[in-house]
Amino acid sequence: MLEIGEAQQQVLEDIPVLGKERIHIMEALGRVLAEDATATRDVPSWDNSAMDGYAVRHEDLAGATSHQPAKFKIVGDAPAGKPFEGEVGSGEAVRIMTGALIPGGTDTVIMVEDTAREGDLVVCMNDPGKGAHIRPRGEDVRKGEVVLCRGDIVRPPEVGMLATLGHAYVYVHQRPVVAILSTGDELVDLDEPFTYGKVVCSNTYSLAAQVAECGAIPLSLGVASDDESDQRAMISDGVRADVVVTSGGVSVGKYDLVRDTLSKLGMKVKFWKVAMKPGKPLIFGTIDNKPVFGLPGNPTSAMISFEQFVRPALLKMMGHTRLFRALIEAKLAEDVKLGSGRLHLVRCRLFEKDGEMMASSTGTQSSGALRSMVLADGVLILPAGKRLFSAGETVKVQLLHTSTPLSPHSHYD
Ligand code: AMP
Ligand code: MG
Repeated sequence: MLEIGEAQQQVLEDIPVLGKERIHIMEALGRVLAEDATATRDVPSWDNSAMDGYAVRHEDLAGATSHQPAKFKIVGDAPAGKPFEGEVGSGEAVRIMTGALIPGGTDTVIMVEDTAREGDLVVCMNDPGKGAHIRPRGEDVRKGEVVLCRGDIVRPPEVGMLATLGHAYVYVHQRPVVAILSTGDELVDLDEPFTYGKVVCSNTYSLAAQVAECGAIPLSLGVASDDESDQRAMISDGVRADVVVTSGGVSVGKYDLVRDTLSKLGMKVKFWKVAMKPGKPLIFGTIDNKPVFGLPGNPTSAMISFEQFVRPALLKMMGHTRLFRALIEAKLAEDVKLGSGRLHLVRCRLFEKDGEMMASSTGTQSSGALRSMVLADGVLILPAGKRLFSAGETVKVQLLHTSTPLSPHSHYD
């Protein structure tokens, strides 16, 4: 059976990076830049003051101390946004605010805290050195410099930098529309009567949430019965989207018809079955060049398979280059016994004990038990070939949520 890493590679080699679209920077958070952003001006664009204080000529200050202060005549104000007109002469000072342009003739700013007033004179008690407290033009960014690169994720600092450079709009990679279909005669949707023997179709919702969480656009196709023509109609509708994700019906039961349906729709199958637990019966291929993922129906299997295969694929389509969740190491808080020699992805909680990161299983690992996902911060990656992992062993943990706070404490406690 195909190993998980190889299956991921096989998925990713078939996945295209989508084209670009132009959007407002307020809409760009989390998106991936499709073009470099080059500075069309220096930032800051003019020399300006880093402090509230007085702008003077350094030659007039010459080693001032509290015993031998230098005195200046105040000849005007330079507030931020209102440049001081004219030249400042010898023995003169301009009262200047943070961000205001440096007046002509001056080359040094003295902090207001290092001065005293005597009528319309300002008395300076130290010499901060020539050029002190001036933010020179181009200190942050120089005209012509590539500041943000294609492939960068737009986070709050990138939004600020784009605005600083004067860009209201930006080119980012498009987001795929992901059609989601649940299959199973036992399934009822939320607005249908929940009668004897039925199961609420939760996968449509959990998968749609996973699609949305990684930044793509979910499109629910609803529920298909365990009937080939029903499935066929809905999936052929689905391939008008960029990606199709189905759940259920890919195992070996009598009513597991999704593989047949996909093959009748002309699916080019890349693989079926991956050596992992949960999530073994996953099928992947393309129909009309659109990636199609047939995920197993068990709610936890569906979500874990999505994490391992669909999420990296969607991230790639959206131009991301870091496609995988963060991996950390943790110590097992208790023994973990496995039911098979396959690679296991055991849902776990993380906590700190005596300064060490500890991992504890979320309890029952039945692939139907969605609670194990609700409780999980991540999954233990327990490699194939071993059935007992002992308390105290160091294991790898794949974090499942970008929102998982890594430290329970403020760093300043
Ligand atoms: P299957 O993969 O079709 O054999 O389904 C395996 C298990 O997952 C069965 O117990 C199904 O009832 C359950 N299941 C399948 N699809 C869904 C769904 N969309 N929502 C919740 N449970 C499901
Ligand atoms: Mg089924």
